[in-house]
Amino acid sequence: MNTMNTAMIRNQSVPSDAKLQQVRNVGVAAHIDAGKTTLTERILLYTGAIHKAGNVDDGNTTTDFDPIEQRKGITIFGAAVSCSWTQEVKAEVANLFPGVTHRLNLIDTPGHVDFTAEVERSLRALDGVIAVFCAVGGVQPQSETVWRQANRYGVPRLVFVNKMDRVGANFMRVVNELRQKLSANAWPVILPLGSEAQLRGQLDIINERAFLFDGTAGSAYTVASVPSEARQLVAAVRTELVARIADLDDEVATFWLANKPVPAGLLKAAIRRATIANRFVPVIAGSAHRFVGVQPLLDAVVDYLPGPLDSGSVAAHFDGGVEGVIELKSTEPAAALVFKLVHDGQGRRMVFLRVYSGSLSKGDRVLNVRTGRRERIGRLMRVFAERREDMEAAWPGDIVAAVGLGGFRTGDTACDPDRPLQLERPVFPDPVVSMALEPRLNRDRNRLATALCILSDEDPTFRTFTNAETGQWIIAGMGELHLEVIREKLENDHGVSVLAGVPAIAYRETISTAAEADHLFRKQNGGVGMYARVMLAVRPNEPGHGFSIESRVSGGNIPVQFMKAVRNGIRDGLREGVLAGYPVVDLHVDILDGAAHAKDSSDEAFRLAAVAAIREAVRRAKPLLIEPVMKVEVDAPGEEQGDLLGDLNRRRANIVAVESGASHVVLKAHVPLGELWGYANAIRSLSRGRASYSMTPSHFERVPDVMALKIASDFGANPGK
Ligand code: GDP
Repeated sequence: MNTMNTAMIRNQSVPSDAKLQQVRNVGVAAHIDAGKTTLTERILLYTGAIHKAGNVDDGNTTTDFDPIEQRKGITIFGAAVSCSWTQEVKAEVANLFPGVTHRLNLIDTPGHVDFTAEVERSLRALDGVIAVFCAVGGVQPQSETVWRQANRYGVPRLVFVNKMDRVGANFMRVVNELRQKLSANAWPVILPLGSEAQLRGQLDIINERAFLFDGTAGSAYTVASVPSEARQLVAAVRTELVARIADLDDEVATFWLANKPVPAGLLKAAIRRATIANRFVPVIAGSAHRFVGVQPLLDAVVDYLPGPLDSGSVAAHFDGGVEGVIELKSTEPAAALVFKLVHDGQGRRMVFLRVYSGSLSKGDRVLNVRTGRRERIGRLMRVFAERREDMEAAWPGDIVAAVGLGGFRTGDTACDPDRPLQLERPVFPDPVVSMALEPRLNRDRNRLATALCILSDEDPTFRTFTNAETGQWIIAGMGELHLEVIREKLENDHGVSVLAGVPAIAYRETISTAAEADHLFRKQNGGVGMYARVMLAVRPNEPGHGFSIESRVSGGNIPVQFMKAVRNGIRDGLREGVLAGYPVVDLHVDILDGAAHAKDSSDEAFRLAAVAAIREAVRRAKPLLIEPVMKVEVDAPGEEQGDLLGDLNRRRANIVAVESGASHVVLKAHVPLGELWGYANAIRSLSRGRASYSMTPSHFERVPDVMALKIASDFGANPGK
């Protein structure tokens, strides 16, 4: 990467910025069942990436590689699929890039709330989102979670209101909900033409045209004039749209103030600017299942969502803790973010990267600042729906799969060794639920170990470890459903049948005050003895930051070669707390002093002294048990409010807000996870199926004393867990 020669060869083939901009890295985000899988499959069909229209209900769509996902009807993997779309050269639709082929990289985002970390991860790799809503279900709490995550990363969006063919479809209601519930500046650019069984196509507001679809796969749509009965509506909606855009865009405002009609191309360009600036959300009606509106949606993706260079720069942490930005340019040193790892079933570990600056080539050595290691890129591939293609080089905006890079994990940055840096990491919450696991057949022990390794490599929110005493595996994750999915994967993808315990809350322990301890470890049995002394201090640290260790030892009282053993001992000691054996978090440890013996000191002696010292310090620092608390949002008809609030209160909820709409109420609360077992069933029966809810890990809180005592005494009776 750094030699003159390769740079020269590179320069000859550096794509122009205009070429690099002909890419749309987009995610399709949706509440479960809104039609994300169906829409993705239709997109792949119309872009020619697949040749046969599949149907989710038959379980043969393309992005859901995984049979479990198909059975559960949820999409868990961030599979990236590449395809391309060329806008037609049709004067009457006024495309912004007619005839130009754009590469679409579809980055799958999971719909289920148990997998929000997966959503975060994929949001880091994409530039824009197609948010799919059901024309009947509208905006539901789970869609709000994803919407807010996209807000946090400032990702521009357009909305596809799907299922316009369903009984009860109401396009304008969904648009209003986008504005009211999500505070989105969302306005229609394409209305439905007809609805429910009479859905015939779309009304293009910008060009004042109708797009007619015959409802079958593969057929092109026709452009016609707006039917006379819809003309008034289209004109009124266009006037409103122009007024909204005039608020945001001077060029449109000039026309608006002069009372002159705004040309379609100019209006589209202004919508593009406003959308990319995250000040506007274009809304489009259609039906993926009935093949209505997919091609105009693809035109809109190209017209309104940003290209990879539009944001100009991204945040980066440089060597020595310096914060800064890197420019998204092909001429800069390389920087690419690992946003997904996939083991492909043929023993290949594919590292999915989003390139931000510079280029990556086959054979390059890239640096991982987390490990400090340089690794070689063995192969670079682009992944299509039905095939993969080897690539020589990848440029800013590219989404590629690399083979090699064995030491890279999700969230790591692959960079030019001459410019060490780390791009902002996605945030992965700590696991809140754990479960014991054993292979059903003893001969499967090795297979289980390998499978768990692969699964935790692919999913940064899934952890696995073994219980030293019982030899059982413990798996830990983001919720009951998460662990259930893992269990099914073990059985179906890895052929390991397992016996699982009941899910348990992943409690933590922490300290409430500062304390010190001094431990001398000495053993003399015959020949060589063991001698080490460790003195340390602990104090509470900010919540959510795990633990930190610092050495204040001076004068070599603990010889440098043993410091690593001391740190390891502290880590080992914090793995199982003194109250109930849960990991100890949110504390800072200062190693103060110690002593060594010329002959009898060893790594093991120092490790054991550190384990004993840290446990003693924690015991003196008034340890506490803390429990995971979930952020719960319930959306229900207003009349159910009393019953649902009563139920939440019985679950030790802290009600944060009650937001009443015209007929619906949204309850927001913090609820300890331990009180939420079976909540799905409870809420269904309380509201007769009319309420929906979402829950995401929020933070840890002190367990009430009575419960803490019970948990500690259960542990005392059975310390092996
Ligand atoms: P996902 O969970 O968001 O991926 O949703 P799916 O694509 O799996 O769709 C959920 C269900 O809705 C399936 O039974 C689809 O056939 C159905 N569906 C998807 N799109 C439409 C549509 O436009 N109209 C109707 N009526 N049903 C649809």
